[in-house]
Amino acid sequence: MKMKFKLKTLLLAAATAFSLTGLAVGAKAESPQGMKLYVFSSGWLNIEKSALQAGAAPGKIDVPVSFFLIHHPKGNVLFDCGNNDKVITDPTYWGPLAAMLENPANHSRSPDVAIDAQLEKAGYKVSDINYVILGHMHLDHAGNVAKFPGATLVYQRDEIINALWPKPGFAGPYMAGDLTPLRSKAGAIMPARQKVIELNGDLDLFGDGSILIHRSVGHTPGSQQAVVHMPKSGAFVLTSDASYLPENFEKDLLPSVSLAYDPAGIMQGYQWIKYMRDSEGAKIFMAHDAEGYKTRKHSPEYYE
Ligand SMILES: [Zn+2]
Repeated sequence: MKMKFKLKTLLLAAATAFSLTGLAVGAKAESPQGMKLYVFSSGWLNIEKSALQAGAAPGKIDVPVSFFLIHHPKGNVLFDCGNNDKVITDPTYWGPLAAMLENPANHSRSPDVAIDAQLEKAGYKVSDINYVILGHMHLDHAGNVAKFPGATLVYQRDEIINALWPKPGFAGPYMAGDLTPLRSKAGAIMPARQKVIELNGDLDLFGDGSILIHRSVGHTPGSQQAVVHMPKSGAFVLTSDASYLPENFEKDLLPSVSLAYDPAGIMQGYQWIKYMRDSEGAKIFMAHDAEGYKTRKHSPEYYE
């Protein structure tokens, strides 16, 4: 019953402030028992802080590359999937961006950061993954997407178009090679080799309010965030890169120009994050928030 009220609150806010089109209004809102939320990281990146937060003093910071697994009775759902595991053995795959992997304090390229190895430690095989939601398709979020041919991919159509032929000025962090394996063979009339849910809006993935996907154009043309309602530990917002660091959304700070496709949209995304935090007490899980990451439970531990 508690969940029902929460979804109603969310939908009311949706109707008034955020126009969350596509949410299943009136859906039975009850997060099932047995859900588990796992936190992973695809190693760490060493990156100029001013890239993530325009105007920050020069200097590099180490950031995790978080991705998440939600076990739900109706399926195992990945949210983002980290760096392509190719870079463990061949960092040149990333070209000049491989410099971000040079990170002696943190092991970005040890074999145990491979997504299969990490999932296995939590008790899941690659073939156990039923859905892969992509917050966006930058190289550190969609890198391993081709490892899940049996899963249904959930992304914004605008994102895959931009990932394969980006708007001028926004090509840097997309690796076409991460995504071309998703294309079907020559002659097929359907572009995707596997099942996809292409969105131009929001989605209540299982119709029970437990995993709500929210279109959040800003960082990229097809970014999306998710709010996950866990039966025991409450709400979690998975931002992908809709906010890089806590300060960004708290103080309305934008990333550098090439990482801010739609600045007004980023601000709207920040507003939504703050709304979820204030209305539901949602915990905000940003992909690259080092301090936050350190305080989280890490796989194989999980939130219920
Ligand atoms: Zn990004």
